[in-house]
Amino acid sequence: MFDLTDKIALVTGATGGIGAACARAIVAQGGKVAVTGTRQAVLDELCASIGPSAKGFVCDLGDRAAVDALTPAVEAEFGRIDILVNNAGITRDNLFIRMSDDDWDKVIEVNLTAVFRLTRAVLRGMIKRRSGRIVMMSSVVGVAGNAGQGNYAAAKAGLLGMGKSIAKEVARRGITVNAIAPGYIQTPMVEALTDAQRAAAVAEVPADRFGTPEEIAAAVVFLASPEAGYLTGHTLHINGGMHIE
Ligand code: NAP
Repeated sequence: MFDLTDKIALVTGATGGIGAACARAIVAQGGKVAVTGTRQAVLDELCASIGPSAKGFVCDLGDRAAVDALTPAVEAEFGRIDILVNNAGITRDNLFIRMSDDDWDKVIEVNLTAVFRLTRAVLRGMIKRRSGRIVMMSSVVGVAGNAGQGNYAAAKAGLLGMGKSIAKEVARRGITVNAIAPGYIQTPMVEALTDAQRAAAVAEVPADRFGTPEEIAAAVVFLASPEAGYLTGHTLHINGGMHIE
């Protein structure tokens, strides 16, 4: 079950906590991965630790030309892309009334516009082959909102609407588009919290702990698998009970 033998995956933000776990989990199921981030040295380390099934591609998702060049580069290396995990994401938090144009623009560009451009490019090959899997890494914040994260919430909610729309467009081509909305996951993004913020965050979670990147990666493997072929336009809420739909 959930066999990904010889499937080619592109995982953005793989130099981060959740993305690295996704890349490892896909390879553990037999797949090959193109991993992206902005830091060459971290990508090199990641690929060395995963082995020959991984290849790194430096790509700044804030640079539209670089985003547009990514799909042809990965396809030239691996031949095709069967699975796209739109995982990379950034935060630039501030109360809405104080949010700068720049903080708004950066978060929308990296978290939403880059996903639009990359997904559009990857879909062309998937449509021709009449098969594919796309996973959007949204957030509980995109579903429930969070004070201080209006820009991030807008982008993460945007991924859900975009994903559902694409799901309806491409279902007859054998392509599924689903999303994951993680709650607090133990990664560098969450390690940036102060002790007081961390205690307050855990107090919001009925499971009384943060999730692990591996718990998100397991869901990505499932959504990418042949067994999930009839599941599309869905959002998996993985948050320890913090927000139940
Ligand atoms: P992370 O450890 O901070 O990693 C973020 C990843 O995004 C890194 O690989 C980073 O690459 C990449 N990235 C950032 N800016 C980029 C840019 N301009 N161009 C290309 N790549 C860029 O984050 P994480 O916690 O694993 O989160 C992964 C995803 O899950 C994000 O979309 C996040 O919003 C979402 N999420 C996380 C949590 C959580 O609690 N951790 C909760 C809900 C949703 P470089 O470092 O190499 O630049």
